Amino acid sequence: MEIVFATHNKNKLRELQEMLSGYNITILGLSDIGCNEDIEENATTIVGNAEIKARYVKSHYGYNCFADDTGLMIDALGGAPGVYSARFAGDDCDSERNIDKVLQLMAGKENRNARFVTVIALSLGDTEMIFEGEVQGEILTQRRGVGGFGYDSIFEPEHCGMTFAEMSPEQKNSISHRGRAVKKLVAYLSNVSK
Ligand code: IMP
Repeated sequence: MEIVFATHNKNKLRELQEMLSGYNITILGLSDIGCNEDIEENATTIVGNAEIKARYVKSHYGYNCFADDTGLMIDALGGAPGVYSARFAGDDCDSERNIDKVLQLMAGKENRNARFVTVIALSLGDTEMIFEGEVQGEILTQRRGVGGFGYDSIFEPEHCGMTFAEMSPEQKNSISHRGRAVKKLVAYLSNVSK
């Protein structure tokens, strides 16, 4: 079975290809099918954004497809940055500025609870499915650790005593929101590809 992962991110693509290497499934990236345009993610939920990408590839290119979207939901900020996690500090901002904005808004807040949520939308033939993974944790008052990306250095998953940015990639994947969603997808695909 051939299936497209709607991403331009080579690291994410390689990770999925490795996880599915023992199965009868070939994972293609967007560049493999000649899709070089940016698919506009203009939904107001992360489920909606994942669905937009998966449906776009299915309807424009005819491939079975899955797509992911991730958000950081902070309780004391009413669930922000949520679906706007990538551009929290503005349209052409980077992770450092996004983190600065979170730390400013969280200054003096006692409730530091937050969670990462990843949604994977799958468009397979006439079937559409959603797989979700989440991890609870806390927002620190300052950065700790140099690994990872995005908000990793200010997020400490519960019961871990270290941030995502202080973990090895394997450690992070084994408990992360994305790792959990991907495991559910892999379990489903490995069954249908038999
Ligand atoms: P995306 O949906 O994977 O593009 O993620 C949206 C935004 O959430 C990214 O730009 C990152 O800033 C942030 N993000 C996604 N996944 C992670 C993660 O595993 N750790 C920290 N930040 C993340």
